[in-house]
Amino acid sequence: MDETWETVCRVCGFDDGDVFWADGWPTQEICSCCGNESDVGDESVMGLRTCRGYWVGQGAPWTSPGMERKHKAQGWDLLRQLANIPEEWR
Ligand SMILES: [Zn+2]
Repeated sequence: MDETWETVCRVCGFDDGDVFWADGWPTQEICSCCGNESDVGDESVMGLRTCRGYWVGQGAPWTSPGMERKHKAQGWDLLRQLANIPEEWR
């Protein structure tokens, strides 16, 4: 079996090396950026789009203030991050 680890959040494209999906199984990791938990809202593209639209509509709030400070200090760009989302989950 191929070992595939997804470290990119399917909802917001955030990638800090945390594994959200391992070998096709959700790890229940909570995204530090959008707060999505792999498994809950992200098993279908339609569900993902709803989550993503809602999150962006709220002003793209971060779940982790510490991570937000760190990434914003490095010039975090929402649109650039969204472009990280793998094509099949856009
Ligand atoms: Zn996310």
